[in-house]
Amino acid sequence: MNDEEPAENISGGTAGGGQSATFDPETAGTRAEAVVDRLGEMYWTKTYGGRDAFECLVRTILSQNTSDKASQPAHDELMARYGGGEDANSEGDTDLARALADADQPELAETISSAGLYNQKSERIIALAQRICEEYGGESGFDEFVRESDPEAVRSTLLDMNGVGPKTADCVLLFAGGRGGVFPVDTHVHRIARRMGLAPADADHETVREYLERDVPAEKCGFGHTAMIQFGREYCSARKPACLDDPDACPLAGHCDQVGVYPATDEVVDPSETV
Ligand code: SF4
Repeated sequence: MNDEEPAENISGGTAGGGQSATFDPETAGTRAEAVVDRLGEMYWTKTYGGRDAFECLVRTILSQNTSDKASQPAHDELMARYGGGEDANSEGDTDLARALADADQPELAETISSAGLYNQKSERIIALAQRICEEYGGESGFDEFVRESDPEAVRSTLLDMNGVGPKTADCVLLFAGGRGGVFPVDTHVHRIARRMGLAPADADHETVREYLERDVPAEKCGFGHTAMIQFGREYCSARKPACLDDPDACPLAGHCDQVGVYPATDEVVDPSETV
């Protein structure tokens, strides 16, 4: 295991405030837990929490419909311009939500242009910032709400915000709220869980989330999410899973049903097409 989570990850990577944690992989009670344990051995075992909730929202909105690699520079530019630079928080005098609530939309769009869909994203970010200032008085009031209120209440409040879908809401609950038992489902997790047979082949994002949250212990859901994404990038990609050419190339092959993956004919389909 290394502990070098990439900096562009949705968690914020090594600078994202995650804590290393240790678990005993021998005691897995379900196949999903055994998979997560193995991912932990390959990548990292961390618990999350403590990130600024509003910044987390902004980060996930920037990452929508684009790769983390493309959205990271947009995030950095935005923080440099509106977050008061690297040391603003230590002085305690820059509230990102207030700065963005007052932002000039074309200027914000230009700042985040590398993330794509910058007009729509800048409008959403400004509207969210305004709502958070009105309802919570700014960033710290919103942080407190995310950390301390009932997780289901936080989730439904977040889902009520324009531009916030289930994955974004769950990322905020996990990375800012530090809530265990939250397993956000992005496109990688959605694909891999169904390919492996950890969830039904035709399950939608919400159903995959229900299966993983049922079968993976609460404290392992966070790194299960981030490590599974890394595994998707390195081994189980959408078009060319590692097992296609070489059955021994995937370290998780022993746990996998290969739903929709046909090495004999070199064919890959979405698991839902096999039902
Ligand atoms: S065996 Fe193939 S389909 Fe299964 S997890 Fe590994 S790369 Fe993905």
